[in-house]
Amino acid sequence: MSFQNPVFIPGPTNMPEALRRACDMPALDHRSPLFGEILQPALAGVKKVLKTELAEVFLFPSTGTGGWETAISNTLSRGDKILAARNGMFSHRWIDMCQRHGLKVEVVEAPWGTGLPADCYEEILTADTNHEIKAVLATHNETATGVKSDIAAVRRALNAAKHPALLFVDGVSSIASMDFRMDEWGVDAAVTGSQKGFMLPPGLAIIALSPKAQAEVESARLPRTFFDVRDMMKAYASNAYPYTPAVGLMNGLKQSCDMLLAEGLENVFARHHRIAEGVRAAVRAWGLELCARTPDVYSDSVSAIRTPEGFNANDLVTHAAAKYGVAFGVGLGEVAGKVFRIGHLGSLTDVMMLSGLATAEMAMADLGLNIKLGSGVAAAQEVYRSDIAIASKEAA
Ligand SMILES: *Cc1c(COP(=O)(O)O)cnc(C)c1O
Repeated sequence: MSFQNPVFIPGPTNMPEALRRACDMPALDHRSPLFGEILQPALAGVKKVLKTELAEVFLFPSTGTGGWETAISNTLSRGDKILAARNGMFSHRWIDMCQRHGLKVEVVEAPWGTGLPADCYEEILTADTNHEIKAVLATHNETATGVKSDIAAVRRALNAAKHPALLFVDGVSSIASMDFRMDEWGVDAAVTGSQKGFMLPPGLAIIALSPKAQAEVESARLPRTFFDVRDMMKAYASNAYPYTPAVGLMNGLKQSCDMLLAEGLENVFARHHRIAEGVRAAVRAWGLELCARTPDVYSDSVSAIRTPEGFNANDLVTHAAAKYGVAFGVGLGEVAGKVFRIGHLGSLTDVMMLSGLATAEMAMADLGLNIKLGSGVAAAQEVYRSDIAIASKEAA
């Protein structure tokens, strides 16, 4: 691997130099007032990125997975029923976690490559007249398949069924890269980590709980200690922390939010969309197909690309790493060996993306796929030099 090359995996993502520096701090006494000067702006910044004024943000030394556990363990009790769709590896893992916590999960199986079936949720929620379902899980962006789901539609399904269940959203690979509206969509728990859209090293679970979710914390019976938000809330009140915080990462998070807000969230989303459109144009030029079945579910943060029958997509990932020092993502679960993934989120420019596409072409050609060198790059170049691209850059 070369540390000069960008990575094209859907997390951890490339880190801007300024953020790496922000994480590199001398030891700091977290019981001193200095800590509050890092904690408070980091919490305020995350709220802006999540577009919430109502929710409370919690930062744990952990990862997105710890964020899932924070959401469920603070609001639910053993035996509670929850509703979730499985359309990829990440939604599967959250379901698995819930089951291991003794929750009863009604699983809606959705084909990998499709989005969350909100209409199916509505049917199930409408039929649940006794309101036994306590929470609905939604993976905003299924990183395994490069599929985004419509969270607003899930909220509409809950409202149409007049159902009081909590709405928990895994936004690990969407938040800070794709439009996310916590308050407007009535999201009760939003979960992410530091190493994706926030462009930081791994190590922080970032989670936000709505007032409605917070109201469940006292009566929830699932065991929790490290992830108990009550301890965190009590400590926050005096600019403190219940244990030793990951201060460097939190300082990085404060800077990351500043950086995202300075670019402008809508510009950040437009940049991700433009870069993703270039990748998709390249995939078409190669004559390959995305795992995502329809344009309405195309993800702007990751593309999972199907390779031809009989070709092991993992070989491409291994070869690109060994020969060119460039990282792409392997296929996971059901699509292991059938897709490779190009992560295109975080700190990325059109020019960086072109280098990734050029590398993918070389690797595919080396391994005998019928790819014309430069074909995907040229298709992406046309997207990146188009008027839309220029207009959105000027806005930034
Ligand atoms: C990366 C990812 C996770 C897991 O996060 P970790 O930080 O690795 O624990 C969960 N969900 C989605 C959608 C992801 O992309």
